[in-house]
Amino acid sequence: MIRISEPQLGPEVERLVLEVLRSGRLAQGPMVERFEALCAKMAEAPFAVAVSNGTAALDAALEARGIGPGDEVITTPLTFAATLNALLRAGTRIRFADVGADFTIDPDSVRSLIGPSTSALLPVHLYGLPADMRQLREIAAEYGLKIIEDAAQAHGASSEAGKVGAEGTATFSFYATKNVTAGEGGVVTTDDRSVVDHLRLIRNQGMSEPYRYSTVGQNLRMTELQAAVAIPQLERLADFNTARARNAAVLTAGLAECEDLTLPTTPQRRTHVWHQYTVLLDRGRDRDAVVAGLAKRGVQAGIYYPALVWDHPPYRQSDQVIPDRTPQAADVVERCFSLPVHPGLQESDLAIIIEAVSDVLDKERSRRPLQSRGAERGRV
Ligand SMILES: *Cc1c(COP(=O)(O)O)cnc(C)c1O
Repeated sequence: MIRISEPQLGPEVERLVLEVLRSGRLAQGPMVERFEALCAKMAEAPFAVAVSNGTAALDAALEARGIGPGDEVITTPLTFAATLNALLRAGTRIRFADVGADFTIDPDSVRSLIGPSTSALLPVHLYGLPADMRQLREIAAEYGLKIIEDAAQAHGASSEAGKVGAEGTATFSFYATKNVTAGEGGVVTTDDRSVVDHLRLIRNQGMSEPYRYSTVGQNLRMTELQAAVAIPQLERLADFNTARARNAAVLTAGLAECEDLTLPTTPQRRTHVWHQYTVLLDRGRDRDAVVAGLAKRGVQAGIYYPALVWDHPPYRQSDQVIPDRTPQAADVVERCFSLPVHPGLQESDLAIIIEAVSDVLDKERSRRPLQSRGAERGRV
């Protein structure tokens, strides 16, 4: 099976993990500091603070930026539950702007939702593509809004506004399937000294000096082992991102003739780091059959995500959640699927993926009545 994600761990990871095991120091220490320095470098950010996972990074960043009850935050409905869960825990109200054709939050839609209680924007750099940060920063400046960027999928990406995480406050995840993994791990990057101070306090029980507490904190510490797993990957991140971009280009060239697919494109002046290579299947085609057909041919496809983030039982009942109408995002969740694009793929794997997709689409097309085929051809 060609898997949708595959951690890139080499002998250097093994060496560093062994070094930690033999050092006798397992919890947050010098290895975590090295990890933080590499994260700051990755994002071209003045500061990086490591935490236990990407969700904890979101929680901590919201708290450090003073976003909580009484605030209304605008985010995207096309994201992982962690984004929404963090906002709910913070006690904010949540509104959803629609996405553009690039799958990221649409600045015009954001504008249309801004009201008197709006206090922050939470864009998600989905699939590794930064949102339009130039426009979002302009909007934030105009209305005095804070921005927290969910960069869980966008290690090393950049836009016209610079490297993701360089400015303001951004959170990254190092979960097992992310572009850089620690098994579990997270980091907040920021250019704000006071955010750093707050994050360092709350990740360790609010302790400013041994057994002196200056705020109510918790345990968000990363272990030395997690840092040791991630460090060698961060050192090779540029090569991994080059490989992902090359794989995406091969897929795009190979799938160009598939008439039932809309392939992903990268807007000008943004660097996509291809966490996922996500296509849209034409309406009327059976996505489940396509994904099952790919699995039969040894290709694992993923659906990110099968529903709008708020469209699940616990959120539909919540009075913090405002289910705004987002037709573009609603269309995406019905039609999207993602193909493997990770740096572990060989040329032969890419050929297999392209062949499998073409083959499955042909098979599935020939099963449908002629009439419905004709009816769909005119659709956009
Ligand atoms: C993975 C992910 C998170 C959460 O990160 P964890 O490390 O799994 O807690 C948050 N937001 C998005 C968009 C993600 O993909």
